[in-house]
Amino acid sequence: RELAVLDERISGCRACPRLVAWREEVAEVKRASFRDEEYWGRPVPGLGPADARIAVVGLAPAAHGGNRTGRVFTGDRSGDWIFAALWRAGLANQPTSVHRDDGLQLTDVRVCAAVRCAPPANAPTPQERDTCSPWLARELALLPRLRVVLVLGGFGWTALWPVLAEAGVPLPRPRPAFGHGVEVPLTGPNGPLTLLGSYHVSQQNTFTGVLTEPMLDAVLTRATELASS
Ligand code: SF4
Repeated sequence: RELAVLDERISGCRACPRLVAWREEVAEVKRASFRDEEYWGRPVPGLGPADARIAVVGLAPAAHGGNRTGRVFTGDRSGDWIFAALWRAGLANQPTSVHRDDGLQLTDVRVCAAVRCAPPANAPTPQERDTCSPWLARELALLPRLRVVLVLGGFGWTALWPVLAEAGVPLPRPRPAFGHGVEVPLTGPNGPLTLLGSYHVSQQNTFTGVLTEPMLDAVLTRATELASS
């Protein structure tokens, strides 16, 4: 219930002028192949149950993905990768995420983004990242069983540290460098909390082989192990 209220509040946020302008312009102009669809054109809330032990934090919605469908990672190639992997890991009831009402249900995992609005060139500014980080902080605080935060990409990794600091989580100094499979054991508000890094599921990584399906599967397997330990 509290997550639903948060989702609603996030969906109405207009705190970043550049991103508000971009998300709405994209929703107005549309991509030709989606011209018959009504774009969401607003901030994209997270997806997944409040009893999740794993949070997956991405970068930001894609202009014609989440910004079109209104559901995180839904309707783009990155989503094809992450939801197929969640399904293989037993955390999703289906391997695809096409539109908001396609029956997808997640188990034990909440998927969200460090920045909730689609940015031009998929590149939010540090200021936009910091402006959006309180939403992430509130969302993670509403997951009482949270044990693992799986961060997709260096941008999310950077975004998470002030969020954790604000939550009173003791953090190692210097900050451990982001990398695929990097684990940082922490003590969260509700007990052990592990930060786990993964290369992002962006096409720059998946098309070039920087991130492969076995690599993604391995890091998700590790996340489920940590969540159960
Ligand atoms: Fe609000 Fe975050 Fe969107 Fe900025 S990026 S307008 S803070 S939801």
